[in-house]
Amino acid sequence: THFGFETVSESLKAGRVRDVFSSVAANYDTMNDLMSLGIHRLWKDYFVRSLNPGIPPSTTSSPRGQKILDIAGGTGDIALRHLDHSTTINNDHKTSVIISDINPEMLAEGMKRFASSPYKPTNRVSFLEANAEDLPTIESNSIDLYTVAFGIRNFTHKQKALAEAFRVLKPGGVFACLEFTPNLSNPLLNAIYKRWSFGAIPLIGQVVAADRDSYQYLVESIEKFPSQAEFAGMIRDAGFLIPGHNSPGEGGLEGGWEDLTMGVAAIHKGIKP
Ligand code: SAM
Repeated sequence: THFGFETVSESLKAGRVRDVFSSVAANYDTMNDLMSLGIHRLWKDYFVRSLNPGIPPSTTSSPRGQKILDIAGGTGDIALRHLDHSTTINNDHKTSVIISDINPEMLAEGMKRFASSPYKPTNRVSFLEANAEDLPTIESNSIDLYTVAFGIRNFTHKQKALAEAFRVLKPGGVFACLEFTPNLSNPLLNAIYKRWSFGAIPLIGQVVAADRDSYQYLVESIEKFPSQAEFAGMIRDAGFLIPGHNSPGEGGLEGGWEDLTMGVAAIHKGIKP
């Protein structure tokens, strides 16, 4: 790595990813706050607001609400926001979310959380243990909105997961991804950021969760994730139309993403034609 830390992720495969999240599950929400200085909450709020989940009662096109699939949904951070937004902003009490994750321990944390949420007694939330690369229990053309936040960089075969996203979405359905980016466009900020992520995050993992290696892996998985432009290309290759905007500073490459906090994270969207 850039700062001389041992590379622990070289031989990681899906099984190792599972182990990492099993080991971080119980501390996951606290660690997110510590590692991102709380900023992940703002990104997630913005991400969900930008998708405007739910259908207002005045819209007659889909009286049953939306069917949302939150992939790598972990402890339910995004799903809870989808339901809050559809309920309070769109007065939609029907939209439902399937929280899907490969890791049963992460899902168990999500279940605990929903047990004390307003959505517990309703059928608006369900949990599915599955690999995002293969979703046999989800029908083709059945989902209105597919979200994945801070998940796809962990997938072994990202293009395969994108193909599954494309399959399960209805025509007109939206794919939306919130993910860290490997590099900030400003070199000075990038250097500071790399010091923070490679220096502080594994250390916080060691001190708070007694698990340095898992947090080292999480940092390295960000480093290996494609650039915003490359990832937009992968989404296009899966068959999605990309709502056009060209991101400044990308040398005229066709864009289709939105940088957050100077490009530490980015939102990518695609529409199934
Ligand atoms: N979306 C949540 C959030 O934003 O807080 C959780 C993100 S967490 C960093 C990444 C999640 O991806 C973990 O819960 C992990 O189990 C899940 N994951 C990793 N590989 C996966 C795969 N192949 N299929 C589905 N989920 C996966």
